[in-house]
Amino acid sequence: MSSNEAYKGYRNEALETLKKFSAQIWSDVEIKTSKGKYYGIILPRSETADSAHIVLKLRSGYNIGVAVKAIEEINISGRKEANYKIQEKAFPYDPSKPMVKLLGTGGTIASRLDYRTGAVIPAFSPGELFGSVPELADICNLETEKLYGVFSENMGPEQWKGTAEAIGREIKKGVQGIVIGHGTDTMHHTAACLSFMVQNSPIPIVMVGSQRSSDRPSSDAALNLQHSVKTAAESDIAEVMVCMFGPTSDAYGLLHRGTRVRKMHSSYRSTFRTIGDIPLAMVSKKEIHLLRQDYKRRRKDREVTINTSFEEKVSIVYYYPNMKPDIIESLIDNGYKGIIIAGTGLGHVNKPLYPALKRACDNNIAVYMTVQTLWGYVQMYVYDTGRDIMELGVVPCANMLPEVAYIKLGWALGQTNDLNKVKEIMLTPIAGEITEREPSNGYLIYQGGIPEVEEFISKYMK
Ligand code: ASP
Repeated sequence: MSSNEAYKGYRNEALETLKKFSAQIWSDVEIKTSKGKYYGIILPRSETADSAHIVLKLRSGYNIGVAVKAIEEINISGRKEANYKIQEKAFPYDPSKPMVKLLGTGGTIASRLDYRTGAVIPAFSPGELFGSVPELADICNLETEKLYGVFSENMGPEQWKGTAEAIGREIKKGVQGIVIGHGTDTMHHTAACLSFMVQNSPIPIVMVGSQRSSDRPSSDAALNLQHSVKTAAESDIAEVMVCMFGPTSDAYGLLHRGTRVRKMHSSYRSTFRTIGDIPLAMVSKKEIHLLRQDYKRRRKDREVTINTSFEEKVSIVYYYPNMKPDIIESLIDNGYKGIIIAGTGLGHVNKPLYPALKRACDNNIAVYMTVQTLWGYVQMYVYDTGRDIMELGVVPCANMLPEVAYIKLGWALGQTNDLNKVKEIMLTPIAGEITEREPSNGYLIYQGGIPEVEEFISKYMK
């Protein structure tokens, strides 16, 4: 084993401690600490993990982090190397089943922890997926392709374009549905981007991820995959959607429209919520239960419009009290072409920002207003403040979510430099990013089990 492999992921004090006691990854050890003794196998760590802990797979199968500071001694009794391989089984081909393509971009769903060792291993070929989630073969024939292998904070215009082009290719090839494996953190950015870059799709395009890796009993990976593959194979909804856990239990998944969805919790599996509207459907292993009828229907033809132009010099400015104009000035001076403001309340910023915003608009920078409340509409006619800001040239964006407006502005500025045309594109709904009204049951968040939430849930669950 190379010295890198022997200490994979360990740095600084953790690395020094391992070396001091001649321990390596896969060493079977007894670790004596100031708090007691632990017996287990030393596991590799991810590159982003901290350097204050050594990770041990205990005899019980649980993984724990042992604080390096507390370690007094490490005694080695042997070595138990990992088996990295997931059992591969040929994905069965059934001519009567639809063909689904899974495009991988990375994130937690693209990897799984080996049950025995805790090491992160990729699970991507159809055989590997079938090996870990055999139920997929009951739904469809599956083809997989790894486009990227990144955590989703590293997704950007290059990957968005590449993914949109791959979708175009697969549609032309004749697949019946597409699933895109993606990290959850920026899934809503990519979902919005694909909603603009891929238009008039004849088939469902379903984004999926997982909040918890598949070695954990509470993992959402397998169920999200089954729900998303079922949606791609069978659903009538030919739109870009996000398919993730609905409630905190594993009772069903929700299908969210790509332009109205947002990650709302850093660790819950039910982290994705449709904002200012209701989801498209509920999905379980048995059925896809539609919650609305105003969606684009699946078609048999293979027509699709792929338009991937994207202007990168666009920014979101999240307003906070006492923000100074230099923030805006620096965007102007650095050649930015578009600014999305996430303003307070109905769409406000403080007065000291006005001259800088005026300079931005006078310099042909497209400046648009959204709301940090996320739910609700920008309404700039209500207060003088709003009117004043509009007079500077700032354009209200109705109920477009700030991240969606950011993506749409990049995409609109990719088409044209004519700001009137940009405005027309921005304010014309293309994929549900602006809606006429927010339905009364579109604002549902848990507040200690308030009655209308309970009532809504009980309508769909027995
Ligand atoms: N940080 C990961 C990502 O967004 C989290 C996940 O995959 O859910 O890529």
